[in-house]
Amino acid sequence: MSDYKFDTLQIHAAAAPDPTTGALQVPIYLTTAYAFKDADHAARLFNLEEVGYIYSRLTNPTVMKLAEKVAVLEGGAGGVACSSGHAAQIMALFPLMGPGLNVVASTRLYGGTITQFSQTIKRFGWSAKFVDFDDLDALEEAIDENTRAIFCESISNPGGYITDIPAVAKLADKAGLPLIVDNTLATPYLCRPIEMGATLVVHSLTKYMTGNGTVTGGCVIDSGKFDWSASDKFPSLSAPEPAYHGLKFHEALGPMAFTFHSIAVGLRDLGMTMNPQGAHYTMMGLETLSLRMDKHVANAKAVAEWLEKDPRIDFVTYAGLESSPWHDRVAKVCPKGAGALFTVAVKGGYEACVKLVNNLKLFSHVANLGDARSLIIHSASTTHRQLTEAQQIAAGAAPNVVRLSIGIENAEDLIADLDQALTAATA
Ligand SMILES: *Cc1c(COP(=O)(O)O)cnc(C)c1O
Repeated sequence: MSDYKFDTLQIHAAAAPDPTTGALQVPIYLTTAYAFKDADHAARLFNLEEVGYIYSRLTNPTVMKLAEKVAVLEGGAGGVACSSGHAAQIMALFPLMGPGLNVVASTRLYGGTITQFSQTIKRFGWSAKFVDFDDLDALEEAIDENTRAIFCESISNPGGYITDIPAVAKLADKAGLPLIVDNTLATPYLCRPIEMGATLVVHSLTKYMTGNGTVTGGCVIDSGKFDWSASDKFPSLSAPEPAYHGLKFHEALGPMAFTFHSIAVGLRDLGMTMNPQGAHYTMMGLETLSLRMDKHVANAKAVAEWLEKDPRIDFVTYAGLESSPWHDRVAKVCPKGAGALFTVAVKGGYEACVKLVNNLKLFSHVANLGDARSLIIHSASTTHRQLTEAQQIAAGAAPNVVRLSIGIENAEDLIADLDQALTAATA
């Protein structure tokens, strides 16, 4: 199957007709439990001696098909779907971390991830060290004996920055640590982290992967290539698991160790399960992923180029523009395009940004991205309202900046809408 090209895989991977009915689409299995054939069958399932369905907190046929599809699209060995992008991040770290251990993370991350990593994970005794991933020496220095993972985004929120994944992966490899890449803003169509050396890929399926703003979901995909037994740093995967009669996941399951642990321990005990209805909508979205991403990228390029030339604009941070300091990384890291999210600084500052948002007709003012429709947010008056101006600037949410998520409408219509709203905003 994986010999096929991406456009074929996004439709046909993990989509064989339903074995009982022949249904061509993956059915939505709205069931909590699955009947055991007999007591012996039940015992084998609970011992992980046989793979099968027990209870939908752990596995559900619809949700499993989604995880399998994304794993194929990312070129991974396996994967687990879960309830949100943020759940996926916890699910990715859970088998690796423990009290006193840390993850070295890029400073350029989705705002919610910065909060999750700098505040919430402390409650588990985990911590994050934030480093500028363009400074490879600083990154290497930040890694210590308690580091268990390196974390970055491929294309990073709020847009305009691209991580040099091959360089970071090389460093992770040297340190014997897994590199986790959040590939939400790029999708596996634009960026292939596993081919560049990433161990785990996490997604917020809420965004482009579903593509229409109907689902909250996430997933973790494992490359299957990391040697969890090479050191004693990853006992959850390499040492005997007391809750499974001393099973050693890596020894017993090889490249599927991380995936099985994520289901059998992660979903079982953390309960961050995706629902089958949501998995269905995401699979519908995935069938057109490449078509949508090509259009997102073409539109983003057209809109960014138009805005950059406009005298009412100070600057545009889109890596797809020649003026971007990260433009050279597009060909290396995301050759099919730099995504469709970027920020724009408007002359006239805070007031002009608020008026721009109020006067747009096609763009929706929401705290989301990666929808088929174009979205805008003025972070300084919304999501980053509680911060000081200095903090807002540091977070890429300065008072004069708006963030655009370019949809798949007609680019001329989007430009005309921005034109009329900029006129009203800067009059
Ligand atoms: C939205 C987003 C997340 C969080 O995903 P949710 O599905 O909202 O939990 C994580 N990373 C990135 C890059 C995102 O855009």
